[in-house]
Amino acid sequence: MAVNAHRSGYSYLVLERAADVGGTWRENTYPGCVCDSPSHLYSLSFAAKPDWSSRYASQPEILAYLQKTARDFGVIPHIRFGEQVTDLTYDEQKKFWSIATATGQIYKARFVVSAVGQFNQPNIPDIPGLNNFGGTVMHSAQWDHDYDFNGKSVAVIGTGSSAVQIVPQLADKASHLTVFQRTPRWIVGKNNRRFGFWQRFVFRYFPFVKWAYRLKIHWDQEKAWPALLRESMQKTERTAALTAEMKEKVADVRLARKLIPEHPPGYRPILLTDDYLPILQRNDVDLVTDGISRIDKDAVVTDSGDRIPVDCIVMATGFKSHDFLPGINVTGRCACNLHRQWQLTGGAEAYLGITAPFFPNLFFMFGPNTNLSHTSVIFMLECQTNYVIEAIKTVQEKNASSIEVMRSAEERLYSSLGYWIFLTVWENEHIGKHGDKIANYYWPKRTRDYWWKTLTIDEDHYMIS
Ligand code: NAP
Repeated sequence: MAVNAHRSGYSYLVLERAADVGGTWRENTYPGCVCDSPSHLYSLSFAAKPDWSSRYASQPEILAYLQKTARDFGVIPHIRFGEQVTDLTYDEQKKFWSIATATGQIYKARFVVSAVGQFNQPNIPDIPGLNNFGGTVMHSAQWDHDYDFNGKSVAVIGTGSSAVQIVPQLADKASHLTVFQRTPRWIVGKNNRRFGFWQRFVFRYFPFVKWAYRLKIHWDQEKAWPALLRESMQKTERTAALTAEMKEKVADVRLARKLIPEHPPGYRPILLTDDYLPILQRNDVDLVTDGISRIDKDAVVTDSGDRIPVDCIVMATGFKSHDFLPGINVTGRCACNLHRQWQLTGGAEAYLGITAPFFPNLFFMFGPNTNLSHTSVIFMLECQTNYVIEAIKTVQEKNASSIEVMRSAEERLYSSLGYWIFLTVWENEHIGKHGDKIANYYWPKRTRDYWWKTLTIDEDHYMIS
């Protein structure tokens, strides 16, 4: 967003509560943290890195890439680090936003873009007794690198993307590892491999090869989108293929039965890993599918009364991803409060995930209903930056000072999204006042549809004044 704003000739300021750039890739430093999107697609189009070390890059390499990109494009001097935004207040008369931070600073801006992400608040489950646990508790995004796992009995709660990367890293160190699974997830081999010298050489000195490769990954992933339709042949084929793959990798039929989900693939992101399933079959690793009833001073106790003594609990329990703009009090036109408005609509909603009625000149990146289950979210983010710039240009061209989406446009979009959701594997996930939103906030169509919709501003959907 910053680079795009600069390139379009706008002055901008970035407020960042941390001391460095990197977002989720700065926060998540757990062992084994590797991206699940192929690196050549998980890069910004204007800074497509030719020398990724492997097909799926690891956290340190991605963080270094983000930091280098920010430096190379001159973004760093425009960032105020250590500034946590607490209040955004719209001045209707002046058509300006006032941005208050925890340090007591007040900034003014005509346009505000929220890029706070969805994975910034660790979800620590409220399990009875957790506060009295005598051992160590850590969340995957708050890793304690000083903790020595050697010889310890460790519990990992959760079996999502973070967990399947953490578990193989801990298995060799811990004396015993217990993995608590609530909902099984589809798992497919990752087949990560390093790029050799010549591959990196070709990507660097023959850029069209790099672009062709990137395009091919994008196309292959987009081609897989029909498998998300609940009545599609592709979904049936994918379910059969994944079931066969998981059964082949897990010899123990009882374990395989615990691991193979009943929901269709894509309902939750499919997990990519080569070492998780073999690890679960070791004698010193247990997969527990009983619920957790409480935590004692030195043990986790399951619903069926089993007491599992542990020294350390790793919470791989994800993030409070439904709380958009957490901790920021947003007051728009007519003193409308954003979070109260989202309470009334039964969950966060925004037109194309980017704009909301009553909040002129405010834009969201990675907003409601823009997550993906089949390809890289970077593509969506770049569509959003383009849309924001188009909106600002539209205001300028009309000699206006504000742009605000109409409620009717947002409602029409959500009823169309509701129709698409009904066709997909997320059909049962409706929430919200009208039952037309999905709890897991995915964009239910192809990314090319999103690209098309965000290419230009449909002025009929906006009040520009
Ligand atoms: P996640 O996908 O939300 O998984 C959280 C896990 O914790 C789930 O298995 C969940 O079970 C379980 N859980 C939550 N509360 C629980 C409770 N009270 N008791 C028992 N289990 C509980 O979180 P994540 O793995 O940290 O991933 C978060 C996001 O980051 C995802 O979108 C993921 O794709 C992304 N991510 C990407 C990468 C990568 O690219 N390498 C790596 C990590 C994460 P239920 O399923 O039953 O809720």
